[in-house]
Order: sequence, then structure tokens, then C-alpha cells
Amino acid sequence: MQYKRCKCGKAERWDTGEAVRPCEGCTECQTTYAGSSADHKPLEPHDWKPQFNRDTGQEDGAVCTRCHKRKRGD
Ligand SMILES: [Zn+2]
Ligand SMILES: [Zn+2]
Repeated sequence: MQYKRCKCGKAERWDTGEAVRPCEGCTECQTTYAGSSADHKPLEPHDWKPQFNRDTGQEDGAVCTRCHKRKRGD
């Protein structure tokens, strides 16, 4: 196992063998995680899909369809 890092090195994660989504990476240097410095790609925005509260039916945050990151509603 080894780490994948963003270009500036502030963000890192284990290399799980899974492909890195284009929206996962470092918000500071705006690059994706990569095992070598030649592989960094520009960070893309998350593809947010609204989620709805099961009880109220109200919109309640969103989930990225690519990396499944959650965002809270306001
Ligand atoms: Zn970075
Ligand atoms: Zn995402």
C-alpha cells in the first residue's frame, strides 16, 4: 500500500486500488490525488444531486454522484 497525494502534498489518501474520481483531491492546489507527480489532473467540481428527507420530503443536502461525498442542506 502507498499514499496518493495532490500536487502540493497537503491532501493525501491511501491508494485503495480504485480509480480516483476527477472531483476528489485538494482544494488548495486544485489537483486530484495521484501516485506520481506526472499523474495529477485538474480538480473538477462535484456533481451534486439533491437528496430529500424521507420524513418531510424537503430537500436535505446533496450527494456527489461520482465520489458519493455528502453535503448538508442549509
Ligand atoms: Zn494540494
Ligand atoms: Zn465528488
